[in-house]
Amino acid sequence: MEQIHTPKRRHLAPTLLAAALLTLGSAGAQAKDVTDADILNDATNTSQVVTHGLGTKGQRFSPLTKINTATVKDLVPAWSFSFGGEKQRGQQSQPLVHDGKMFVTASYSRIFALDVKTGAKLWKYEHRLPDGIMPCCDVINRGAAIYGNLVIFGTLDAQLVALNKDTGKVVWRERIEDYKAGYSLTAAPQIVKGMLITGNSGGEFGIVGRVDARDPMTGKLIWTRPVVEGHMGYKYDKDGKAIENGITGTTNATWPGDLWKTGGAATWLSAYYDPDVNLIFMGTGNPAPWNSHLRPGDNLYSTSTVAIDPDTGKIAWHFQNTPHDGWDYDGVNEFVSFEYKDPKSGKLVKAGGKADRNGFFFVNDRTNGKLINAFPFVSRIDWASGFDLKTGRPIPKEESRPGSPFAEGGGDGQKGSTVFVAPSFLGGKNQMPMAYSPKSGLFYVPANEWGMDIWNEPVSYKRGAAYLGAGFTIKPLNDDYIGALRAVDPVSGTIKWEVKNNAPLWGGVLATGGDLVFYGTPEGHLKAIDANSGKELWQFQTGSGVIAPPITWEDNGEQFIAVVSGWGGAVPLWGGDVAKRVNFLEQGGSVWVFKLHRS
Ligand code: CA
Repeated sequence: MEQIHTPKRRHLAPTLLAAALLTLGSAGAQAKDVTDADILNDATNTSQVVTHGLGTKGQRFSPLTKINTATVKDLVPAWSFSFGGEKQRGQQSQPLVHDGKMFVTASYSRIFALDVKTGAKLWKYEHRLPDGIMPCCDVINRGAAIYGNLVIFGTLDAQLVALNKDTGKVVWRERIEDYKAGYSLTAAPQIVKGMLITGNSGGEFGIVGRVDARDPMTGKLIWTRPVVEGHMGYKYDKDGKAIENGITGTTNATWPGDLWKTGGAATWLSAYYDPDVNLIFMGTGNPAPWNSHLRPGDNLYSTSTVAIDPDTGKIAWHFQNTPHDGWDYDGVNEFVSFEYKDPKSGKLVKAGGKADRNGFFFVNDRTNGKLINAFPFVSRIDWASGFDLKTGRPIPKEESRPGSPFAEGGGDGQKGSTVFVAPSFLGGKNQMPMAYSPKSGLFYVPANEWGMDIWNEPVSYKRGAAYLGAGFTIKPLNDDYIGALRAVDPVSGTIKWEVKNNAPLWGGVLATGGDLVFYGTPEGHLKAIDANSGKELWQFQTGSGVIAPPITWEDNGEQFIAVVSGWGGAVPLWGGDVAKRVNFLEQGGSVWVFKLHRS
């Protein structure tokens, strides 16, 4: 690992920076830098959106109330902007809004700066991609980070690019890993305590998941923490020299032989941070390969929530959602901090919620990772009958594990026994982020009902090649719907209401102080739902499928809603029978902004 991480030293030339500021100053309005306070206050400062998640906790809740259950009927488009070109495909970006500008990423590693009032384009950057990129699940991007005078995003060839947010000029570029080995970067980076926190994608190629902290102004590494047991973590001195920072876990404790060296656990969604407990929460993906018979053991820290101390880069606690995953139940889903009063003791509990791909909704004590509750948020879960809250471990149903190709009586050396299991590997919930409303105390979870035939095959690791050792076909569980937006009570472990959707839900959710829940559908609608009753109050057809999370902000006393539209992502590529059911949907690429019609 060490030689890969040799950071290049890049410093901003102070004289150039001063000159740039002078130029801006003389041109009139001084561009505002984004500060650590702006980041920390993002959940309550309603005039901006400067984090992925509307606050580093990722609650995706805005206290704004002007658009509410009574007024939402008057919501109309303010403007729309097309990402243009032939490069449409899936659009999963959450826009950022700051200082009169919107920053929105698009498919094929593009980013646009727009005038937030008019939708006029201010600048764009199109990353030059090599031919050999290996994105598993479409050429998507989920958004940028913003800090100082920079806007920073990841690319499909596993680089980070930082641009001057006011001019669009590239300030620094850093390679996070070699795309030829299967690495890419599609998640939005997160700013934590003045550091740029990123993970990596590539879990289907036997990469090694890790969490990196960098200086956002230079791209220089501060620390790196691999999340597969056996790998060394590093921190970096001011000259960029790597200093060993402790092995992750214990080599070979939960992995046989050399398998930890290509163990997967891709950290392919955003990190979230709670300043109250001073921990970064990162989900980790499937262990590699998918064929679990090749790697007996828990395979830490795959399919887990990992809590990292930002000051040391060390793992403070972990909770494994699917020990010894054999179904690609990536545990990458967001771990969202929230508080509640314990019904028995009346004490305030500092918790975190996670709607996992494996079908269970987990509530953990976020100070130490202890499991508080795990309950289904989908109708059918085959791989486990529940969780033992004392041990924090699942009660497995081993008959739902696909057989080994070499099992006696069940395998022929080419293919093991096939099982049908729900959820499918596309998950009870996938990448689309849920929202939590502290007002209602409910999580709003974009869930899907589907299963899969899955079987195992022999496989050996080859750099840059798919490393699955499994085959599959995804199938719907019901004729009339796959998706369901569900209001989940994390304390009682019940579903309060649901809104079914024919196609699988693949966009994120926004909850507001106006008692509304906004979410998009592959059929193209942005919808507003009553947060308490589940009643649909408003919808708008955006022209292509919505698979991205909406945001909201206010400007001059007006509240705005924005969402990106553009069908694509993993479902059309991997969805089997489900892909056939949604193959009529059209691609696109645009951002829509809405406001209340003045009558
Ligand atoms: Ca995976």
